[in-house]
Amino acid sequence: MRFALIAPKAESAIYDGHLKKLFNMYTTTLPHLVPYIPKGIDFKVFSGRENNNIPLEEFDAIGISENTSAANNAHILAKRAQKIGIPVILGGTHATAMFEEEKKYGVVVRGGHGGPPLEMILNRLQKGLPLEEHYDAFTSPTKFRSPRRDVMKKRFAYEIAPVSTTVGCPWNCNYCSVKTLYGNTFFHYPIDEIIKDIKTVGKHFFFVDDNLSYDQIYAEELMKQLTPLNKKWAMQAVSSLGNKEQESFVDLAYDAGLRAVYFGLDGVTESSLKEAGAGHKRNPIQKTLDQIARIHDKGILIEIGFVVGYDHDTEETFDLIQNLIDKSVADSAIFHILTPYPGTALFNKLKKQNRITTFDWSKYNTGNLTFELAGMPKQVFMDRYNRLWEYNLSISRIWKTTRSSPNPIITLGKKLATKNYRRKILNQV
Ligand code: SF4
Repeated sequence: MRFALIAPKAESAIYDGHLKKLFNMYTTTLPHLVPYIPKGIDFKVFSGRENNNIPLEEFDAIGISENTSAANNAHILAKRAQKIGIPVILGGTHATAMFEEEKKYGVVVRGGHGGPPLEMILNRLQKGLPLEEHYDAFTSPTKFRSPRRDVMKKRFAYEIAPVSTTVGCPWNCNYCSVKTLYGNTFFHYPIDEIIKDIKTVGKHFFFVDDNLSYDQIYAEELMKQLTPLNKKWAMQAVSSLGNKEQESFVDLAYDAGLRAVYFGLDGVTESSLKEAGAGHKRNPIQKTLDQIARIHDKGILIEIGFVVGYDHDTEETFDLIQNLIDKSVADSAIFHILTPYPGTALFNKLKKQNRITTFDWSKYNTGNLTFELAGMPKQVFMDRYNRLWEYNLSISRIWKTTRSSPNPIITLGKKLATKNYRRKILNQV
C-alpha cells in the first residue's frame, strides 16, 4: 500500500518569499505522525508543496494535516483524491474544529493526538476493512515515539528544526487553537526523549512551546542536559519569561545555547489582555520591556509579536505600539491581526455576534481582517496597521536595530526580506 502524508501549502502573512527560502522551519506535525505509519506501508511526505506538484495518482490513500490557513488547499487535494477514488484522512485543528464540514472530504481524526488513530486507520485500510466516519484523538498516546525528522526534505538554505517539549497548554487564551486540539491536557515529554530527539537535529533548532519554562524544575534540568550538546537555539515565550523567579532559567538557557526569543505580547493594554483571556501575560508593559532589555543584554536576539484588533483597540493603540517599539531594545517586531480561528472561543463569540466577514480560510493567517471591528472602521485600521509595518521597516529603524543587535547579519537579512515581502503584499492589495 502506498500512502501520502501531506501538510498543504498555506499563505503566510509575514514570513514568505526570500525570507522563507533563506531560512525557515518545517512543520512539526508530520515528523511526529510518521512513527505511527505501520510497517510495510510505502509512504511519502509532502510539506508545503503546491497542490499541482503532489502526484496523488501514485497513492492508495492520503492523509492531510490541516490547519485553517491551508484548508482551501486541503479541500482541493481531498476532492482530487475523491475523484480518483482513494481514501482521504483529515486531521489537525481545522478538521477538528469544523468536523461537520470536513467529514464530506474524508475520514476525520478529531483532536491533537492523531498518531494512534492514524495507525489504526492505516491498519484497517491494509486489511480492506471499512472505516468509521471519524476517530477521536483527545487522549495522549501512552508512549512517546521519537519524531522521524529524516523524512522531511531539506527545502531551505538555513533550516531550523522545530522541537516540542509539551503537549497542550495550562493557559486559556481565547483566540488560541491549542485547546481545540488538546482540551485541558498539559504535560511535558520526558527529558531523555527530548534530548535524544535534539541529537538528531542540526546545529540550530527552535523550541515551539509557549511554555517551555512553565515547569521550572523540568526546564532547568532540560537546560543542564542540553548544554553539552553545544547547539544554538531559539524559543518563544510569554512575557513572564525574565521575571525574577525565571532568572536562573534564563542563565541556564543561555549557557545551553539560547540565542533568540520570540515574545508574544498579545495585547498592550489591560483591557485587550483581559479580552484575550491571557491571564499569565499581565505583566505591566514597562516591566516586560525591562525584562526584554535584561535578556537582550546577555546577547540574545529579541523579536516581539504584537496583536491588534481587539474590541478595545483604537487608533491610540497603534500610537502606543509605535512608542513601545521606540522604547524597546528588541531587534525586531512583527504585527498580527487578531484572527478568529474556528473552534476557538473568539470564533464562537464573533460568529454569535454575526461579525465574521469572510469564511475564505486562506485569509486566516493573521495578516487579514476577517471580522467586523468594534473600535474603528476597517479602512482606518488597515491604514494604521500598514503604517506600523512601514515605520518598523523604515531604513532608519533597520539601521538602529541592526547596530544594536547581538547578531546584525540575521537582523538585517530578516528585515530586508520582510520589507520586500511586505511591499509585495501591498502591491497585491
Ligand atoms: S499561552 Fe500560547 S499556547 Fe497557551 S493558550 Fe495562550 S496562546 Fe495558546
